[in-house]
Amino acid sequence: MAKIQMKTPLVEMDGDEMTRILWQEIKDILLTPYIDLKTEYYDLGLPHRDETDDRVTVDSAEATKRLGVAVKCATITPNVQRMSEYRLKKMWKSPNGTIRRILDGTVFRAPILCEGIVPYIPGWKQPIVLARHAYGDVYSAVDEELEAGEKAYLVIENEKGEVRRKLIHAFDGAGVVQGMHNTDASIRSFAHSCFRYAAENGIPMIFSTKDTISKQYDGRFKKIFEEIYEEYRAQFEEKGIWYLYTLIDDAVARVVRSEGGLLWACKNYDGDVMSDMVATAYGSLGMMSSVLVSPDGKYEYEAAHGTVTRHYYKHLKGEETSTNSVATIFAWTGALKKRGELDATPELVAFAEKLENATKATIEAGEMTGDLIPLFHREGVTPKKLNSEEFLRAIAARL
Ligand code: NAP
Ligand code: MG
Repeated sequence: MAKIQMKTPLVEMDGDEMTRILWQEIKDILLTPYIDLKTEYYDLGLPHRDETDDRVTVDSAEATKRLGVAVKCATITPNVQRMSEYRLKKMWKSPNGTIRRILDGTVFRAPILCEGIVPYIPGWKQPIVLARHAYGDVYSAVDEELEAGEKAYLVIENEKGEVRRKLIHAFDGAGVVQGMHNTDASIRSFAHSCFRYAAENGIPMIFSTKDTISKQYDGRFKKIFEEIYEEYRAQFEEKGIWYLYTLIDDAVARVVRSEGGLLWACKNYDGDVMSDMVATAYGSLGMMSSVLVSPDGKYEYEAAHGTVTRHYYKHLKGEETSTNSVATIFAWTGALKKRGELDATPELVAFAEKLENATKATIEAGEMTGDLIPLFHREGVTPKKLNSEEFLRAIAARL
């Protein structure tokens, strides 16, 4: 059989630990036998990031701007323990953070649903897509510890050197202070990405903040979303979908009571926390896909989970692992589908869809990794635990 051809390469961002092992196996077992895979390869594994002084991360993000579609493996964000484990020159920043800063845009996370995997919230029948603003707030905040007797001010200086100053707090005892920011430009592009995603996918949208407490800061988000919604109102009405702004507390209650099938747009921190809640409630981190969409329409696909360190250490000891590769497979299929759409190569899109269906069908038939076993309930099907490689081979057999 002739292999499927690609016109434009994908940006391939390799990563670390267990997911790096799965990455190679997915390519060998599920992709290269069928596709003449064209990629521009960037090794974002921690040793190579250290070797290149993290230049490789920046280069991979620049390549994504140029080529339009990237697929990324999970990577280690170094901390003190990783510094000594990998003898790093420096505590390099989170690659995802660096890529987001360069591409801007919004992270959309959606669960991969299969028959038989029942969410912890059984009312959820459809995916809840979580849109996380990927710029600013506490993620680029400045903070400082204070001693008793010190005062903290918010100081703003304009171009003429005139200063506005607000007292934050006069400290009787020791404490902490933090300054954070966002920009109208970034909030606007966040709003556009969310409304566009909801309209393209025909799903209603909730946006939530805490503007009752954070009147100016969150109030700004609310106002910008209201303005930009007017540009999409007609499209929403035509598709029979709605947009609702509500407080984050109320949004949490509404989302839990819903049947799913909606887009929930969150500020950076809310999105970070709520996406883990939503992923867990749908079953497993291994079943959550993620895509970063930039305002100018560049796409970076990945799994929502990390490098699964605990499984990697077992693997290094020669023990068998049963690590779920579904989210990483869907990162590849997401990227291949988008590449196929942009290049007008329908056979690539069709292949990616077949691979997604084969992956779901494998689980639905009872063949899965260990994390899914306790979640699986399907009449007449007894789930069977496969190891990491056996699971990929079972998918290949169906494909
Ligand atoms: P993690 O890799 O997501 O794993 C946490 C735990 O969740 C695992 O130990 C495992 O539980 C379960 N799990 C996650 N993914 C799974 C999968 N595909 N199959 C089966 N079980 C899965 O998070 P972490 O251990 O906190 O972080 C490890 C490293 O990943 C860190 O260095 C962190 O910096 C990095 N990280 C990277 C990204 C990214 O690149 N996007 C995101 C998050 C974290 P059991 O051990 O109970 O089986
Ligand atoms: Mg998180």
